[in-house]
Amino acid sequence: MLRHLRHLLLALCLPLPLSAQKVALSLDDAPFLKPSPRLAAPAQHRAMLEALKVRKVRAILFVNGVNGGDTPEGRSLLRAWGEAGHLLANHSYSHWDLNRDDVSLEAYEADVLKGEALIRDLPGFTKRYRYPFLRAGNTLAKRDGFYAFLAARGDGIGHVSIDTADYLLDERLRQRLEREPGADVSPYRELYLKHLWACARFYDAWSREAFGREIPHVLLLHSRLLNGLFLGDVVDFFRAKGWTWVDPRTAFADPAYARMPKNLPGGEALAEAVAAETGQQGFVKAWRARNTGPDDQLFSERRLAERMDQLGL
Ligand SMILES: [Zn+2]
Repeated sequence: MLRHLRHLLLALCLPLPLSAQKVALSLDDAPFLKPSPRLAAPAQHRAMLEALKVRKVRAILFVNGVNGGDTPEGRSLLRAWGEAGHLLANHSYSHWDLNRDDVSLEAYEADVLKGEALIRDLPGFTKRYRYPFLRAGNTLAKRDGFYAFLAARGDGIGHVSIDTADYLLDERLRQRLEREPGADVSPYRELYLKHLWACARFYDAWSREAFGREIPHVLLLHSRLLNGLFLGDVVDFFRAKGWTWVDPRTAFADPAYARMPKNLPGGEALAEAVAAETGQQGFVKAWRARNTGPDDQLFSERRLAERMDQLGL
């Protein structure tokens, strides 16, 4: 009885946060040197580095050769990230889709090695591989062949637990600024945060169902103008929602990230892959039925595009 009372008192005295989710930041397609309005690539990188420095958040960057990782300028930007304490990992040289019939396992593996060679000697290099398009192979032979390749090399998979479509917003934002360099960017920021929140809630719930527990998340964003402008707002937004930013190494150390899901075609966000592997069905449909608020469906690319059209973005 006494023990019971003490628990009750403790429960009353210590208000538990409604959400205790942990999330780590990953940025794909780095360094992404394509010409950009408003902030050129070096300025985007400086802005992202500064936003993370003042907020004390460590990111992991997934690098491609074709996105400028193979140029002196790109390497010097990546070096700055490594020297600032962030992590650099491989996203392949050419950003090929392993689910395509014309991409062979042999050619893909060679391209992955070529990608790693670009960053292996940079500070912050870490052995973890993220599949372009989150696609892990359209045949059993390719999927398991590449799993064996990773395992033999001691590379972890750079799984994503919260997928997003930040690149769609970035595309519209850049088109707008090319037409109208002085345009107000705040509506893009507002919709971006709504989109991320819809994605976070959706994938958090799906992960809980797929794993039967809470897992630390890995959020997928891209090295783009959008994040050059708004990455600090993203960090602040999740903190205001009660989420905690964690070191990517902490998130990836969770056993959930050691999974090599046997879904086919392989890949996708972690909850989707594990649900497909274990034959759990119906999450997406049930979630859509339960969450009918105006912004709840903004995790979907189609809904996001419709909203951008409605808003003239
Ligand atoms: Zn990518």
